[in-house]
Amino acid sequence: MNQKFYDDLIHRSMTGHQLEDALCQRILTDSQTCLPDRQVELLPLINAAYTVRQHYRGKEVIIHIINNAQNGHCQEDCHYCAQAKSSQADIQEYGLKSDEEMLEEARQAYAKGAFRYCMVYAGRGALPARIKRLSGLIRKIKEEYPCQEICVSTGLVTPEGALELKKAGLDQLNHNLNTSEGFYPRICTTHTFADRLNTLQAARLAGIHLCSGVIVGMGESHNDIIEAAKRLRSLKVESLPVNFLVPIDGNQLSVPQGLTPEFCLKVLCLFRFLNPQAEIRIGAGREIHLRNMEILALYPANSLFLQGYLNTKGSSNARTLQMIKDAGFEIKSDVNIDDLLVETRQPVVSVVEPYLVSTKAAIKDLKDLRPALVVSEVEPLKS
Ligand code: SF4
Repeated sequence: MNQKFYDDLIHRSMTGHQLEDALCQRILTDSQTCLPDRQVELLPLINAAYTVRQHYRGKEVIIHIINNAQNGHCQEDCHYCAQAKSSQADIQEYGLKSDEEMLEEARQAYAKGAFRYCMVYAGRGALPARIKRLSGLIRKIKEEYPCQEICVSTGLVTPEGALELKKAGLDQLNHNLNTSEGFYPRICTTHTFADRLNTLQAARLAGIHLCSGVIVGMGESHNDIIEAAKRLRSLKVESLPVNFLVPIDGNQLSVPQGLTPEFCLKVLCLFRFLNPQAEIRIGAGREIHLRNMEILALYPANSLFLQGYLNTKGSSNARTLQMIKDAGFEIKSDVNIDDLLVETRQPVVSVVEPYLVSTKAAIKDLKDLRPALVVSEVEPLKS
């Protein structure tokens, strides 16, 4: 495609114009399979997405650190999740962490440069007792860190629950749409796409920012990805994680489909064009699926997870921070990136660690999931 094609993409994205499905399809199509005059080349596409990203988000990179408030014990059957009742994945389950533990881990996350601390609770949804306890915890964290943000992921939430969380000071609620409405029954049978939309609507009405994104690589079509991106655009989500299916042995969906580094980058560009102002996050699976092209993902995206994902490890904090610094991006945090790099106690040369090229994900162990405790202190699981 000539330069005009990429310039038009920038113009249409930044002037609020929707992109037609056929154009989105063209962006996602593997350039090797097109005639030369129909090829959407990767570098000009990334450059166009970066123009949009830079206009709205500058050079910022927002760091998120996830805390699993509990692990396992979920009765839902999301086929991509190691905590689902249907998963045989070898994870170490534990019950709910204490408020003191969650607070201590919030302190650690903010000290590591996190702008937003994400507390994730497994399960179908938040009953009133959980909403009450969570509200108390949010108030405690906000007392200590009034300027830092808190995000909570706690399944389905009612309008009343959302209002209570908002009153406690919650900034953002995470609830991913994950895929298109039509494909949703293929990835979960215990709740519906409509249930998810209702939760997002409840949060929006309560005045809570929305964090909602997708998982790519579950066997969905390009049309499903495009439909999900457009749905998130219509919901005006503020924060949009783009996850790439992490291959976890034992999960119902354990084999990613069609994820090459080029495709993952094109997906991120498409999400930027369709959601130009959103905080777009490179979600789970960046190390495995983007491989040596990982840094290019920060040109369309402006956010990432540090310290791994829900149940799987990522690359080291030092390596991720060094990657951000080397490319000239700036982390959005009270903590200086150079100080963070010093704290990791790794000179630049040793940060070039063996790269995670395995096609298998490394499962987190207890000390990753409960860093405030030593393993022997963990209370036995209640049956
Ligand atoms: S994604 Fe959440 S609701 Fe679904 S199985 Fe995992 S923990 Fe349960």
